[in-house]
Parts: sequence; structure tokens; C-alpha cells
Amino acid sequence: MRGDMKALVKRHAREGLWAETAPIPDIGPDDVLIRIHKTGICGTDVHIWNWDEWAARTVPVPMITGHEFAGEIVEVGRNVDGLLIGQRCSGEGHLIGKQSRQSRAGRFHLDPETRGIGVNEQGAFAEYLRLPAFNVVPLPDEISDDIGAILDPLGNAVHTALSFDLIGEDVLITGAGPIGIMAAAVARHVGARNVVITDINDARLSLASTVADVVPVNVTREDLNDVRAGLKIKQGFDVGLEMSGNQAALDQMIEAMVMGGRIAMLGIPPGKSPVDWSRIVFKAITIKGVYGREIFETWYKMIAMLQNGLDVSGVITHRLPVDDFEAGFAAMKSGTSGKVVLDWG
Ligand code: NAD
Ligand code: ZN
Repeated sequence: MRGDMKALVKRHAREGLWAETAPIPDIGPDDVLIRIHKTGICGTDVHIWNWDEWAARTVPVPMITGHEFAGEIVEVGRNVDGLLIGQRCSGEGHLIGKQSRQSRAGRFHLDPETRGIGVNEQGAFAEYLRLPAFNVVPLPDEISDDIGAILDPLGNAVHTALSFDLIGEDVLITGAGPIGIMAAAVARHVGARNVVITDINDARLSLASTVADVVPVNVTREDLNDVRAGLKIKQGFDVGLEMSGNQAALDQMIEAMVMGGRIAMLGIPPGKSPVDWSRIVFKAITIKGVYGREIFETWYKMIAMLQNGLDVSGVITHRLPVDDFEAGFAAMKSGTSGKVVLDWG
């Protein structure tokens, strides 16, 4: 008998999330048990809260949600090497299979059997999380639990931003959500010349300006061509990072790119969207779809950059005790917040 824990559970197939007690998970020989310290609320968690069409199709109930976390190892399975009780950690929330060609080639982030904690498997919005030891990422002392809890979305930003060489390049980021803002900070950190970030929401753009040295552009008022000319960018942007999931933003990006430009796409459009392929062909544009984080190269790079002066702490706009989770979700749904971090005590 291991006792009970507090957890945020998708109990019913309708809008909402419920604070409940759940049994502390048992671990297998290859797992660790993590005492959760802090968690981040992701857009995915908001989809699950709202119980939209994707969530209803994807998430079985009951399900403990959440996949962005930092904590401490409190138990290790008997096969686990190299991890000790007391180790602070975050971890990769994508649980991969080991059979696919991609996994066997070491390209773990491309495994088609991937299952997500908090989506397909019991998640991290709980006092304790069971995780395969393989997925654990130890945290160095200089990385706080707050930052540890947002390494998952920072990883999306880093994976996307490092898709193409950014040194000396002019970079356009569409969408100043938390991930777009962190990608802007990364692009600056690795040596981009100009980083322009667009949105339609002034609160998001002003947050972007406080976190990174960027040129914010509200596309409802400003003409991107004028901004480009003002920066003396002659032809167009060299690299585009699409982080809004919005059709108009992608169209605008394609127009604003240089001949031979490269675009990494993280934003997820809500459905099929029309694309002017002839523009892409005649401008000889390369487009790369980006999913998740590279396991574990993205983790290695982002921790190294954080140790080397990358500062994304300003993207956290709300820190709340877990009992105030409803206020945290309300902040996320307002569309003006940065990252919301919940404290599990
Ligand atoms: P978010 O929804 O908080 O931010 C998106 C931003 O885009 C918002 O601030 C919105 O105002 C802005 N926007 C809307 N229309 C725009 C337009 N026409 N031009 C410019 N900006 C516009 O999302 P987030 O959490 O920062 O995530 C960014 C995107 O990445 C989302 O689409 C999300 O679904 C996606 N995502 C993908 C992966 C993956 O593995 N591919 C992982 C995480 C998130
Ligand atoms: Zn997430």
C-alpha cells in the first residue's frame, strides 16, 4: 500500500479538470518515481480542459493530464543505472517504442509508436509521476525548478530554431506565444542578425520585447515590408519559424522570405489550409515540419545554452500554487499570458 496523492484528473468527457486523490503509481524495473515540484500548463492541456474535437478523439478518461514538469527522483527501479534518489530532474514526455526503423537508427523523436504522458499515459499534474528512466533528464543545480518545468516547450522552440543555421541571418518568427517568444530568445542567443516577431496581440508582443531583443510587429497595424525595409533587409528573411498555426501568418511568411529561404513549421493549423505552392516553388523555399524535441540532442543543447547565458525566465508570467489551477487555466485561456507554472509544494 503506497498511499494516495493529489492529481489534476480529466475525470469526465466534458469541459474541465478535477482535483482528486489518486493512488501513487507503482513503478516497473526500468522506471523511476518522481516527486513533482513544478509543472507548466501547455496549450495541449487547455485543449484537454476544453474537451475539443482533438481531445475527445485522443484522450481516454480518466487521465491525469500534464507533461511539463520538474521534480526529484524518490524511487528507482531495480534495472536502473546512473540515476540516484534525490536527483533533481525534468524529462521527455514522449514515451517511444524501440522497434521502429527510426528508433533503431537513434532518431527517437521520429518513432511512430510515440505515446505522450498526460495525453495517452498518466501524466505529470500529480504529486508523483512514474517515468521510464530512459526519459529522465537530470537538472544541473543552476537550472531552477521553474525553468525545469518549461523545458518541454523550450525544447520545441530550440528544436525549431536550430533547424537551420541562424548565424548572421535575418529571422522572421510568426506567432509570439510562449514558444515563439522563447524561439526568438534562442535565435538571438545563437547569433541571428535581426529577429522580427509578429502577432496580432499587443500583450504578447510586449512580452516578447521584455524577454528577447526582437523587433515586434503587430500585423493588424504594421506592414511587414516597411519593417523589413527599415531594418535594411534587402530581399527578404533568410529563415522563418512559423509558431502561430495561423494560415494568414504562413502566407505572409512565404511572401516575406528571400529566394531560397528556409522555413521551420511548428505551429499546428486547425485543419487543412490552402497553400500557394507555386510561390514556394518559384521562390525555391525549403519547408521543414517540426514535431516535439530531438531526444536527447535538443535537451543537451538547451541545457548547455541555459548554462551559457540564455535567459527565458521572463516568459513565465504566472506562478501559482496547484490549488489555484483554475486561475492558471483562466490565465492561459485569456490569450495574453506567457507560461503558467503550478507549484506542487
Ligand atoms: P499560442 O497559441 O500561445 O501562440 C500562438 C500565437 O500566434 C498567439 O499569440 C496568436 O495571437 C498568434 N497569432 C495568431 N494569428 C496570427 C497571425 N496572423 N500572425 C502572427 N501571429 C498570429 O501557442 P504556443 O503555445 O506558443 O505554441 C505555438 C504553436 O506551436 C501552436 O500552434 C501550437 O499548437 C504548436 N505546437 C506544436 C508542437 C509540435 O510538436 N509541432 C508542440 C507544441 C506546440
Ligand atoms: Zn507542452
